[in-house]
Amino acid sequence: MASAHDPLPPGVDPCDVPGHGHAALTLEAARAQIIAGIQPITEQESVPITAAVGRVLATPVHSGIDVPAHRNSAMDGYALAGADLPAEGEASFAIAGVSWAGRPYAAAVARGQCVRIMTGAMLPEGTDTVVMQEHVRVQDGCVRLEAGHRPGQHVRPPGEDIRRGQVALPAGIELRPAHLGLLASLGIETVRVLRRPRVAIFSTGDELRSPGEALATGQIYDSNRYSLQGMLQRLGMEVVDLGVIRDTREDTLRAFEAAAARADAIVSSGGVSVGDADFVTETLQRHGQIGFWKVAMKPGKPIAFGHFGRACFFGLPGNPVSVMVTFYQVVRPALVALSGARDPDPPILVRAVCTTRLRKKPGRLEFQRGVLERNASGAYSVRSTGHQGAGVLRSMGEANCFIIVPLEHGDVEPGTEVDVQPFAGLA
Ligand code: AMP
Ligand code: MG
Repeated sequence: MASAHDPLPPGVDPCDVPGHGHAALTLEAARAQIIAGIQPITEQESVPITAAVGRVLATPVHSGIDVPAHRNSAMDGYALAGADLPAEGEASFAIAGVSWAGRPYAAAVARGQCVRIMTGAMLPEGTDTVVMQEHVRVQDGCVRLEAGHRPGQHVRPPGEDIRRGQVALPAGIELRPAHLGLLASLGIETVRVLRRPRVAIFSTGDELRSPGEALATGQIYDSNRYSLQGMLQRLGMEVVDLGVIRDTREDTLRAFEAAAARADAIVSSGGVSVGDADFVTETLQRHGQIGFWKVAMKPGKPIAFGHFGRACFFGLPGNPVSVMVTFYQVVRPALVALSGARDPDPPILVRAVCTTRLRKKPGRLEFQRGVLERNASGAYSVRSTGHQGAGVLRSMGEANCFIIVPLEHGDVEPGTEVDVQPFAGLA
């Protein structure tokens, strides 16, 4: 059987050679294998809630108080005893005073009296009902109202939001803005969260220069480290940037070692094919543990996954679009698992009518770049960004979604419904 390192005729894409090396895994199988090999972060730290958005809660948060702490009004109006509401006709109540939010009316309210009350203000003793100010007439220090009100209306009971002792937030959730507000409403200033994963990145390729450097003939700028930086930052990862690594066995091994010494996960780009300058897969095979190196997806068929030292390793292809697609589809779920987040939100998929023709060969799950739009009647349609070459980063920049075409599907004709994954749900 052919091995991963057999030479291929020039110009032949190893992905198009049947049986070259190991069989390609389905994306689903690849993800399952990766997740099974991830050891989630367990180290904790304390952070103020003002810096906690996006962090993973390490321990459950119990409420030390009832929220709200007191029975209070949901409306601006008048507080009175529900038993005094008229069953028919009208009733009149003398206004005994005012209850402000944060400045309660201290005395008890007698039968037949009411108190002017603001939203959020405590209900005074002797009252259990609020009538909206829009539903009364005020005259000579008295309030007149008609029948039709329900005893107990417009009152928020203590603990309506959260009861004292109740688990307000479970461990393992990724803190969103609502959670920060909720923590604040409990009077909590700092929370225990899991340490952020550290992810080391490097680009491989003798042809690569960094922005700011001059290009000689045949050289190109390294774009992968920058798109990776952005995607990792959005995911809340701590990034260790190891720069551009030359295509030699020695430099590649040194990069692996430096990365594994400093990070929980390593993401490289380039050097995973079977060209003469591709040392990434070989290094992983010789000095680490390789899980797989081919996934039946496009772009991104050559992709190496494994472990090096204590770090998990992702060797992404070199083409800039392949890097982004494989990051979102393969690396992202793994890093979410590494972060210790439990039950992350499932990916958002939308059904949309494809208005352009998509070229596709059966055999790989494809992620084409598309523009998702909503028409006047509220239906979604999607069109291709055009040229789908794995090197055309512009296609990612113009797109707002992936159009997902199943493994065995061929060309997609205009008017066909397709699955679409909006970028908005990925970052
Ligand atoms: P490789 O997988 O290393 O053979 O790279 C595949 C293609 O992607 C080649 O055309 C490379 O020049 C290009 N490429 C590799 N790494 C990068 C990078 N960091 N930025 C931009 N293009 C890259
Ligand atoms: Mg290369």
